[in-house]
Amino acid sequence: MKTISVVGSTGSIGTQTLEVVAAEPDRYRIVALGANRSVDLLVAQAAAVRPDRVAIADASLAKDLEARVPRGTEVWAGPEALEAIAREAEVVVNGVVGFAGLGVTLAALEAGGRLALANKESLIAGGPVVQRARATPGAEIIPVDSEHAAVHQCLLATGPAAGADRLARIVLTASGGPFRGRGAADLASVTVADALAHPTWAMGPKITVDSSTLMNKGLEVIEAHELFGVDYDHIEVVVHPQSIVHSMVEFTDGSTVAQLSQPDMRLPISYALAYPDRGGVAFGALDWSAVGRLDFEAPDRDAFPCLELAYEAGREGGTAPAWLNAANEIAVAAFLEGRIPWRSIADVVKETLVRHHGTNPVTVDVVLEADRLAREQARRVVERSAAA
Ligand code: MG
Repeated sequence: MKTISVVGSTGSIGTQTLEVVAAEPDRYRIVALGANRSVDLLVAQAAAVRPDRVAIADASLAKDLEARVPRGTEVWAGPEALEAIAREAEVVVNGVVGFAGLGVTLAALEAGGRLALANKESLIAGGPVVQRARATPGAEIIPVDSEHAAVHQCLLATGPAAGADRLARIVLTASGGPFRGRGAADLASVTVADALAHPTWAMGPKITVDSSTLMNKGLEVIEAHELFGVDYDHIEVVVHPQSIVHSMVEFTDGSTVAQLSQPDMRLPISYALAYPDRGGVAFGALDWSAVGRLDFEAPDRDAFPCLELAYEAGREGGTAPAWLNAANEIAVAAFLEGRIPWRSIADVVKETLVRHHGTNPVTVDVVLEADRLAREQARRVVERSAAA
């Protein structure tokens, strides 16, 4: 039985991980569950899964949790608890939302385990330090992002004798989000509800807003660079509204290999748990009589400037992606609170990045400080923008 620790178990990725594990109960055992504050759901999950331990980041909720988990389940509490349960299993699913997932990513890798990574922000913001942790013997990252899981699978088609230099480009697909096809002028008055109405994927609010601005795709470009070591000139984005082709890899002989399924996050989760084997239960298998057509178009970089901002930050490297990510998290939160319009998300990121200056070498403390500084700058830009 493969042991699994699910960090961020009460979120969208966490709950779907529990479904994947429940579908193959003889294969996986969840030894730990961790959440930030959602005690009720965590208690219900613990009753169903019977893990050895549960972790809650908000220590003030520990007493309540202790009183309600099954007998024999340990409770670990406090900000370090989520990192602690990331050292306790063969596979760690990091489903924490945002930069807060960095500690879990580093803990899992430094413990020499497999990191099933749904928390892309930690890899993007902490690139240089995550790469060092990834060099720990036994450590590996299997992406739980549909596009990167697709690329990971497509790369298996390289052939036994071909080297990494036979990869010509990675093509990441983007659904285009709810505002695909709308011009910049037309996007001035969109609401929070509009931005949260994703046409193909059901996800948490932060990533859904990121999809509407194409920042999610921009972050995924940086994620692809970090995961697969491919330079930015060889990572492209194509809009594919049906979300059936999850991404593609083109080889030097002109051949393109793609991975297809219905949009269902349980498939990349299952892939990351089972690899190098395959899951035994199908999630998102295609009914070809119902697929109909598959469309592809170039992204509109004027209406969705976040995509280019991400390429620029990625190319700059160092702490620039950390600044990009922090500014975006602040801007998205301000948008969800109704404080700034949708269009200002890109403005806040852009104006914040102007103030970025790099520091070398990039250590964990440097990443944490970059994140703090960028948030401070972004909050100032939001205040000005909200007052205007
Ligand atoms: Mg994705």
